[in-house]
Amino acid sequence: MKKCAKCGKEYDEEYDACPHCVTAKKNRAAIMALVVFALFAAVFVAPRFLLSAGGGITLSQFSRVQTGMSVQEVQSVMGDAGKLTVDQNIAGMTGQVYQWQNPGGANVIVQFQNGKVIQKAQAGLQ
Ligand SMILES: [Zn+2]
Repeated sequence: MKKCAKCGKEYDEEYDACPHCVTAKKNRAAIMALVVFALFAAVFVAPRFLLSAGGGITLSQFSRVQTGMSVQEVQSVMGDAGKLTVDQNIAGMTGQVYQWQNPGGANVIVQFQNGKVIQKAQAGLQ
């Protein structure tokens, strides 16, 4: 048996890394995926009556956000810094979700991985 320096639990010689710690890491990644999914779901189910025309971010700004853009590039397209709603670092991989909300309730979320856009969603933009 080997003893893990990180969590102190014992594990079999045949493993290269502590299976307890690997499982914990996987669970954290799964939790983050769930949080991001919930945010995206919230955008899509936002009540339509809350969404109104005009003000803030436009559909044309949203369409200029491309996969692979940096946080700074997206902020400059949107014209403001937005709100950081998820900020994670799992095993050296960073994940962030930024949200922009118009006064009428229309909103945009953009997910970044390692500083680059991987996913975007909007509801109610005109
Ligand atoms: Zn461990």
